[in-house]
Amino acid sequence: AKRSAGTDFVVYEPGLGNTTSTRKDVVAELAQAIEDGELRTVYQPLIDLRSGRPIGAEALVRWQHPVDGLRSPDQFIGLAEESGLITRIGELVLGDACRQAARWVAECQGQDDLLVTVNLSARQVADDQIVDQVREALAASGLDPHRLVLEITETVLMQDRDAAAATLWLLKGLGVRIAIDDFGTGYSSLAYLRRFPIDMLKVAREFVDGLGRDAHDDVITRAIVELAGTLGLLTVAEGVETTQQSETVTALGCDIAQGYLFSRPIEADAVSAVMSASWLS
Ligand code: C2E
Ligand code: CA
Ligand code: CA
Repeated sequence: AKRSAGTDFVVYEPGLGNTTSTRKDVVAELAQAIEDGELRTVYQPLIDLRSGRPIGAEALVRWQHPVDGLRSPDQFIGLAEESGLITRIGELVLGDACRQAARWVAECQGQDDLLVTVNLSARQVADDQIVDQVREALAASGLDPHRLVLEITETVLMQDRDAAAATLWLLKGLGVRIAIDDFGTGYSSLAYLRRFPIDMLKVAREFVDGLGRDAHDDVITRAIVELAGTLGLLTVAEGVETTQQSETVTALGCDIAQGYLFSRPIEADAVSAVMSASWLS
């Protein structure tokens, strides 16, 4: 919870043992943490529903705090956005993700669909540095651009449409692919699916969660998958936690699934092990 304190914010941090620190303190701490290499990237496997095999992973940032332990992105991404530190964090995650994906590709020869996805927040899309960052991450890793999928939310697209469209087309020009994250939860103006170069829709966890229990969620998920099919977009079901959900999204024609049923986010080495075991067997 945040409350206004003059010009500053007071941030209550569960991880800090009930102490409060000013927003400036936390921003300074995050900046230092980035310097000190306390941020790292974990990966949640993506499962190809046709073959049942992992075909890649989503990169998710973690803050390994020396005293408080692991901090989840929900505890610091917002602040990173406001302060601009997200630019540096984004660069780190992009670098890690491309490097790891290039390694997975080398380890799993012949797995042509292998991909890695990376989240971009509003501020990153608004800033045209992102195009150079992506170009550099691809060049440094040697990763084939189409294996990199950048995830953005509908909200990002709707905020500053012209700037977002321009940036996405530049990114598209590098050969990367674009996904809409948490699809269906934002302002769903379907017109933007034509206006922006979109390749993939990620069906939000809140719909997947209700599958088989809430008829609305079945209808919404079916509609999203059909829309995607018509437009030639890949679909990913997010937050799959049960076998029933997995069977339902498979029956609905979803291409890919992701969720605790298959794996929590894990270290890059663990993803390597899972992928090689699956693809070399
Ligand atoms: P997201 O992009 O929607 O990522 C999915 C979140 O759902 C992840 O939380 C993941 O651990 C969690 N999740 C995956 N499967 C399941 C499941 O079956 N059940 C449930 N209950 N949860 C599941 P995480 O890693 O804590 O990330 C939270 C959010 O922080 C992300 O949501 C994303 O918006 C943001 N984020 C994470 N990493 C980055 C990053 O590198 N850059 C930016 N800009 N944002 C990031
Ligand atoms: Ca995401
Ligand atoms: Ca998501």
